[in-house]
Amino acid sequence: MSASPFPNALVIDGQHLATAAGTSTLVDPATEQPFTTVPIASVAEVDQAIDGAGRAFRDASWRHADPQIRADTLYRIAARIRERQEDLARIEAQNVGKPISDARAEIGAGARCFEYYAGGISRFVGETIPVSGSGFDYTLRQPVGVVAAIVPWNFPFLMACWKVAPALATGNAVVLKPASLTPLTALALGALALEAGLPAGLLQVIAGPGRVIGDHLVRHSGVRKISFTGETTTGAHILKQAADDIKRVSLELGGKSPNVIFADADLERAAATAPIAVFGNTGQDCCARSRILVERRVYAPFLEALVAATRALVIGAPLDEATQIGPMVSAGQRETVERYIALARDEGGRVVLGGDRPRSPGYYLAPTIIEGLQRDSRTCQEEIFGPVVCVQPFDSEAEAVALANDSVYGLAGSIWTRDLGRALRVARDIESGVLSVNSNSSVYQEIPFGGFKRSGFGRDLGMEAMRLYTEVKNVFVHVPAEPEEDAT
Ligand code: NDP
Repeated sequence: MSASPFPNALVIDGQHLATAAGTSTLVDPATEQPFTTVPIASVAEVDQAIDGAGRAFRDASWRHADPQIRADTLYRIAARIRERQEDLARIEAQNVGKPISDARAEIGAGARCFEYYAGGISRFVGETIPVSGSGFDYTLRQPVGVVAAIVPWNFPFLMACWKVAPALATGNAVVLKPASLTPLTALALGALALEAGLPAGLLQVIAGPGRVIGDHLVRHSGVRKISFTGETTTGAHILKQAADDIKRVSLELGGKSPNVIFADADLERAAATAPIAVFGNTGQDCCARSRILVERRVYAPFLEALVAATRALVIGAPLDEATQIGPMVSAGQRETVERYIALARDEGGRVVLGGDRPRSPGYYLAPTIIEGLQRDSRTCQEEIFGPVVCVQPFDSEAEAVALANDSVYGLAGSIWTRDLGRALRVARDIESGVLSVNSNSSVYQEIPFGGFKRSGFGRDLGMEAMRLYTEVKNVFVHVPAEPEEDAT
């Protein structure tokens, strides 16, 4: 390895591999300048990683280890993450373009994820089931085997932790593939897990293009489970690839989440918090509340307050402590979003705020508020994955629910009202995996996180994630009604 301050090695079978099939150059989204290179795994190295993970799984010293050994290892990984939190946060901020304060929080949440699943190991238990007077029945939760964890570029470290920690906690081996744009903190995680004493082969980290090595990983017969976070079309492709082997699949996909504001809500708080709920991470967030639905009789004052709160956001350099909104991750992603803003205008939308590039250099794009669109317009229906929000009025509770559900996605959503009955009815009726009432905060380590409809299936986080990295085995034991004669 060179003396680069950035991680620059794949992690395969406990070795740091810097000389792989080629290299890829990473560009700093805030300066548009290349800043480091990372190795790209060859297909042969992917095979090596999967075979090594298979061996590490089969030798059973991890999955059959005293649970305390697995827990201690995960706690040590968490401790290493915390020791390196500032370094990792700076790497993440530079690679993704996200504000340093967000990056720091995400690295801390990654450490907490390992701690949570370390603690979960001794509480994740099977059942005894009464089935017959002449028997005793119990279930075992057993690891599935080699897990392919494929993660996107918007929360690279955190998404990796969400998958790696519960998979290791339940006794699996993991091959982690980060997004090509943002592989650095995943490579760092592989290295620090080894430093923390995770046996070689249990966490392999390979970087490279999804369409080549990701595809190979997904189709490889040595992989038993795929845990994927990314675009819905990629998820659908992966699901088809996994079908022949009946691989287990969890998919965390796109979203177009509603933020529903009723007239009786605390409008000041709803408007003050709505901008970060959609423009945080420069809108590159699967949970972004990218459709704000407002009861018509408060529509105008709410929009005015929303615009004022959005204007107050601090757009700046990722490493500046005051920055709330950084650049987008890449030139390509910004162009995609700009095409959507042009489309919105063609579809009859009025850009109330933003739509332009507020800073240069850097892939900056101003938080953009659009109104006047038809509910079936592409702008209102498709995931834009950038700093764009559509604001739409509604007249009744029933219409609010219908609008909220008028989407192929169903990941997250917020409901703002002071009427408890309405909050409970609307929360029951919106087709989404995670909802919040009088808050936009719906992601916690302890809760099951994932979507309905084309937002995917399976769950990250909470104890639900541990279940999804295991198979349930049922064992029935015949119990004679009477003591049998002693054979000896
Ligand atoms: P992509 O689907 O393009 O990529 C995600 C990951 O999949 C990357 O590592 C990518 O590699 C890899 N990949 C791409 N093609 C294949 C393939 N054929 N086989 C296997 N792996 C492949 O998504 P983005 O990175 O653009 O991420 C943004 C998306 O993620 C958004 O739609 C967002 O909503 C979603 N997301 C969902 C979350 C959720 O929890 N529901 C959370 C965060 C994001 P490479 O980078 O090399 O192409």
